[in-house]
Amino acid sequence: MNLMVESNLFESVKKNLCSCSADLALDENIEALLKTPRREVSVAIPVRMDTGKIQVFQSFRVQYNDALGPMKGGIRYHPDETIDTIRGLAAIMTWKCALHDLPLGGAKGGVICNPKALSERELERLSRSYVQEMFPYIGPDRDIPAPDVYTDARVMAWMMDEYSRIAGKTIFGSFTGKPVLLGGSEGRGEATALGGWYAIREAMHRRERDFSGITVAVQGFGNVGAHAALLGQELFGARVVAVSDSRGAIYNPDGLAVRDLVEHKKKTGSVIRFPGATNIPGEEILTLPVDVLIPAALENTITSRNADQVRAAVVAEFANGPTSHEADEILFGSGITVLPDILVNAGGVIVSHFEMIQNFTMDHWDRNKVARKLEGKMVGSFKTVSDLAENNNVSLRKAAYTLAVGRVAGAMRLRGWA
Ligand code: NAD
Repeated sequence: MNLMVESNLFESVKKNLCSCSADLALDENIEALLKTPRREVSVAIPVRMDTGKIQVFQSFRVQYNDALGPMKGGIRYHPDETIDTIRGLAAIMTWKCALHDLPLGGAKGGVICNPKALSERELERLSRSYVQEMFPYIGPDRDIPAPDVYTDARVMAWMMDEYSRIAGKTIFGSFTGKPVLLGGSEGRGEATALGGWYAIREAMHRRERDFSGITVAVQGFGNVGAHAALLGQELFGARVVAVSDSRGAIYNPDGLAVRDLVEHKKKTGSVIRFPGATNIPGEEILTLPVDVLIPAALENTITSRNADQVRAAVVAEFANGPTSHEADEILFGSGITVLPDILVNAGGVIVSHFEMIQNFTMDHWDRNKVARKLEGKMVGSFKTVSDLAENNNVSLRKAAYTLAVGRVAGAMRLRGWA
């Protein structure tokens, strides 16, 4: 097995696509288009650092497919970003929006930078410059970015403000994941994790497994991972036994006090050295004997190298692309239920879509309304995907891809693209 190839997210996503193309009887022209991003913008952004020196940052926006509507996808800041990762993430966004019946296509953006090494002012200048460069390509009816790894509501506020300055008027609908005071939606911060938990609950019920007191390990303790642990414990009665971040992992089989852990991370910068828990190597979180493993960090963490060591009954992909195509086959063969990213982590984009609706109609929904509508969407999509998977005796990923890719291909045919 060539791990270099396996660790290329875009290649992995294309293999997932190929695995359902025969069932969909995809026309070869349509399939070729589905494997190709529609537009890629790559810009070197000069930013004046606090020292007065100019530093140049490479940035991207990949607009994968807009057959179903304007494109949508996060912007991430990461030192190891690559164009192929962004392509893969943009394709994942395309299938995710289609699977959940959102009138949106898929895109993704990224800047190669280490945000932890930038001052607040440098981060703001970088974020505003990104918008200046991308202005012609983005906007409420073209492509609407949102937060992703190492970007947050504060970054979205700067970006929306810069977009509005250039346009000469306030355009809240240009970005989602904004602060609530600036047209953001209630519940957007925890939406990915909350939506994911609705899907886990449905999966457990479907397998007739007892849901109360399930044990959970969460890889990653950022926006998605910390909310996953917190909501899991406080709303869904789960016992969170392990979590990790980029510095390492901690484990306590009796359960971690997640709210205290959030404070500990705020104070110390990491989850490690949490009183009462044992520090373990970061990788070990993937192989603990738990009911549910939640990868909520980065892509390609479960590969053919470690897939046969996974001991969880369910892997819920709150991160995008955490399982390589090869690893997915190994997990399926071992009887492990994988809740695929495009199904389980869509809460973020679903509530982003709610945010767009609120911006366009100048409305503001309360948190209960957002949660209720999110639950309806997640439960409905879960049922549709699970029914197809059971009827065809295929993995949830293959069923989800079949539904999603079929919808995008259908829209392309109707538009006369091939
Ligand atoms: P974030 O920047 O808030 O958090 C990322 C976390 O991952 C941090 O805690 C970091 O320490 C940790 N991490 C990085 N490398 C790690 C490693 N090797 N091992 C363990 N932990 C590591 O990002 P986020 O918004 O929480 O996104 C996490 C994942 O969820 C990404 O795959 C993202 O694409 C996906 N996702 C995010 C959203 C959203 O709305 N933010 C929606 C859907 C999916």
